[in-house]
Amino acid sequence: MLVVMDKNATREMVEKICHEIEKAGLKAHPMPGALRTAIGVTGNKQQIDADHILALEGVKEIIHVTKPFKLVSREFYPEDSVIDVNGIAVGGKNLVTMAGPCAVESRDQCMIIAERVAKSGARIFRGGAYKPRTSPYSFQGLEEEGLKILAEVREKFGLAIITEAIDTEVLDLVSHYTDIVQIGARNMQNYSLLKKAGRQQKPVLLKRGMAATLEEFLMAAEYVMNEGNHQVILCERGVRTFADHTRNTLDLSSVPYVKRTSHLPIIVDPSHGTGIVHKVLPLSRAAIAVGADGLLIEVHHDPANALSDGPQSLTPDNFDGLMKEIRAIASVLGRTCE
Ligand code: PEP
Ligand code: MN
Repeated sequence: MLVVMDKNATREMVEKICHEIEKAGLKAHPMPGALRTAIGVTGNKQQIDADHILALEGVKEIIHVTKPFKLVSREFYPEDSVIDVNGIAVGGKNLVTMAGPCAVESRDQCMIIAERVAKSGARIFRGGAYKPRTSPYSFQGLEEEGLKILAEVREKFGLAIITEAIDTEVLDLVSHYTDIVQIGARNMQNYSLLKKAGRQQKPVLLKRGMAATLEEFLMAAEYVMNEGNHQVILCERGVRTFADHTRNTLDLSSVPYVKRTSHLPIIVDPSHGTGIVHKVLPLSRAAIAVGADGLLIEVHHDPANALSDGPQSLTPDNFDGLMKEIRAIASVLGRTCE
């Protein structure tokens, strides 16, 4: 339910409505807008008497939201959300690229790659310190040592940092070091992790599960937002299909769907979406053309010897070429890529 306040409603009136909603055992989410304030109502324990709320001072109308999405929906927030990542805006006119290796392997590796991707125009450095690997015998990440290397990258190159929290156990530590907490595809429906990510302060990048519908994807974001953290960036990274010419099938049609249904920014990860280096550039072009707010790209200075995801990692030179093309496409679309 959405309570729309009169444009002349005072702050006291808004507070009173929030109080009434919370008294009924529900959550109130006041959303001040340019023209009027609306108050979103969520909760699963109680019903609220809409007529009682409508009769209170300052209330203009009540809108019943029929879709399952509430806080993620455009009905609740008509304007595009722009997420502030340490001064970098994700969403809005400017496209943001997050780039770096699949896994943090060593200090030297990260410094070499970070210097190059920063020069090419990436604003955010990625790298897993905790890796969710299919095999327990594969490299699992440098853990806290990896997080410290990422923090050093931020200091040295002025890049923001994104890294994955693979479970609730490591979330606090990851959140302490990083600028964006990544929740990976395998964890998209790990509800205790989503809720905990919603109770910490850092923005969350939520990747689409490899067999998730878009409704399930947006409902996962709803879990994070429902705990109070509205700083959510979505990421399309492909889904499993019968196709065997590609690691995953990158579902670019999710971008316009999400843009229509939700106010949250969505970026595309063509690296995991395809798994093959020669498909990353063409699908990056397409992702921007279809309206994505940015890209997440795996880059490695020595892909042949990468400890994970070498076959899908661009070299720094290839990444530089990609950024030039993305800038050109962005300008055709009236967007920037700075
Ligand atoms: C990653 O970004 O390194 C990763 C593991 O991605 P995904 O969760 O999309 O597989
Ligand atoms: Mn990877």
